[in-house]
Amino acid sequence: MTTSPSPVISRNPSDPSDIVVQVPAPGAFATADTVERARAAQPEWLSGGASARSTALAAVAAAIEAAAEELAALAVREVGKPLTEARAEVARTAAIWRYYAQAPYEPVGSVHETAAGAGLLMTRRRPHGVAGLITPWNFPFAIPSWKAAPALAVGNAVVLKPAPEATACAQRLAEIVQRELPPGVFTVLPGGAAEGGALVAAADVVSFTGSTVVGQAVVRAATARGVPVQAEMGGLNAAIVLPDACIEQAAAHLAAAIAGYAGQKCTATSRVIAVGVALEPLREALSEALRAVPVGDPADPATVCGPLISEHARDQVCDAWHGTPVLTGGTLPDRAGWYATPTLVEKVSEGHRLLREEVFGPVAALLPADDLAHAVRLTNAVPYGLVTSVHTTDLDAALTGLDRLDTGMIRVNAPSTGVDFHLPFGGAKASSHGPREQGRAALEFYTAGRTYTLSP
Ligand code: NAP
Repeated sequence: MTTSPSPVISRNPSDPSDIVVQVPAPGAFATADTVERARAAQPEWLSGGASARSTALAAVAAAIEAAAEELAALAVREVGKPLTEARAEVARTAAIWRYYAQAPYEPVGSVHETAAGAGLLMTRRRPHGVAGLITPWNFPFAIPSWKAAPALAVGNAVVLKPAPEATACAQRLAEIVQRELPPGVFTVLPGGAAEGGALVAAADVVSFTGSTVVGQAVVRAATARGVPVQAEMGGLNAAIVLPDACIEQAAAHLAAAIAGYAGQKCTATSRVIAVGVALEPLREALSEALRAVPVGDPADPATVCGPLISEHARDQVCDAWHGTPVLTGGTLPDRAGWYATPTLVEKVSEGHRLLREEVFGPVAALLPADDLAHAVRLTNAVPYGLVTSVHTTDLDAALTGLDRLDTGMIRVNAPSTGVDFHLPFGGAKASSHGPREQGRAALEFYTAGRTYTLSP
């Protein structure tokens, strides 16, 4: 029997003496029990019908809207999300539940003539049973919701294992969701790797978001059991700035993508590739834009760059800029909490950590490229492939030149950060595994197709 030896604790990253929540870890045995309870509750949830599921999901959306300010304040306190971003995340979370509230009425298959003439052929998608969801701390409401809402809409039960750093947010979300759903259909299981591993070992479908190293282990474990699995993992995202770009606008977008929420987004920009003559003006403009980013208390609505999630995360960030010429930043603000200033470095040597690994902090490397083809080669020269932003006034040339980009998402004249929940979300290479999340793609992932032959 595997059990978690220590309790689950989350701390306020801008005041580490403030313990937000401390709960006992349930352990692997209790995790398996929770999945069994969910499995027992699922058939009634499915047979309750589309109307009941739709009504419940819409009620969750309304309850999230009603609690919006309280939820945003909790994300500020528990995961250090700047208030303005926290409010936006909560609003998006409500929109996600409302969007999937329509899904129970969507067609679940198709009807066809037989080749021979008599009878009918039919396809129909059915839920898997219990969806095991494992989530990171950086979007404590939106990521659990963009997994849970589609899974529930099509008739699965859900067991969610959130990251320990976001335990209180997940528990609060659970209170809201559970009020609208029958018992056992949605459960949050606080815990760590032991509970996560036990969930992967018991669920009928697994959806993971987090780091690549953990995600790949989850994929291996789920695949060995033969259950469907998707994993959204890390990024080492590039921004390509072409010589014809509006440099001022590009610098503003890049500063937001590097320093927003202290760079703690899988879609954050960590490599800025300046093509040809864009290099000099961009070096100036981006350094200035990063210096102007408001760093400070996440509860202040003006703050853009708050604290890192932990002391370890802050130390990793300092380590990442070590040994490179720093254009701006490279310091630790003199305040309580785990802060680092938005940092731009240049002349990064080949093989440097910044060009190999995700840092997950407000740090980016400025790299020169001779032309667009060179920029695309540099962009692709990492193991990850989540998102690339491209800054240019020549949309047509950029779209043609970008065909060779090996990333799942391309954002033109926009920050690399930002997600539209009604479209597929996911990357290439070590950033993603399996079917896409969000939009209609999620409804397919949480169901299995069957073909029926109906003979007269
Ligand atoms: P993480 O350390 O990989 O943890 C993610 C989740 O996996 C946590 O709930 C974690 O719990 C759990 N876990 C750890 N070991 C496990 C195991 N052996 N079996 C099952 N579950 C296990 O990631 P994080 O630090 O929370 O989040 C940051 C990472 O998420 C970054 O790499 C970021 O790029 C990525 N991310 C990706 C996306 C995307 O959509 N591509 C979105 C957001 C974040 P414990 O912490 O208790 O171990």
